[in-house]
Amino acid sequence: MMLESIAKVGTQMLKKPATLEFPEQRESLADNYRGIHKLDMKTCISCAACARICPNQTIEMVDTETEHGTNKMPQINLERCLFCALCEEVCPTKCLVLTKDYSFEAYDRREYIKRPEDLR
Ligand code: SF4
Ligand code: SF4
Repeated sequence: MMLESIAKVGTQMLKKPATLEFPEQRESLADNYRGIHKLDMKTCISCAACARICPNQTIEMVDTETEHGTNKMPQINLERCLFCALCEEVCPTKCLVLTKDYSFEAYDRREYIKRPEDLR
């Protein structure tokens, strides 16, 4: 009984850790995993379709400085996001996409509000 227990402990000690050294090491993700958004500000036409379709009022169109002056572009509050990808589906220019990036941890809730310039 004693030897059996020692053998079990030894086996466990020789195993690799179950956790990963984040952020250097990362889990492989499912093909359909949806993470933080990416916005191509050059091709956004400020139509607000993404903001209208969003089921959780996550997107607010905000004044944004661009090469062509000030335009309204999507600002996303990740605290409210369901990662449903409806905004991506409806975007006519495909400039708003969900990436596989899930590392948007923050110490302050205000950091979850991502301005258009942050979504690049
Ligand atoms: S993924 Fe869904 S919940 Fe999140 S911003 Fe887009 S439409 Fe809204
Ligand atoms: S991100 Fe797409 S859907 Fe949203 S305002 Fe820009 S062009 Fe329209």
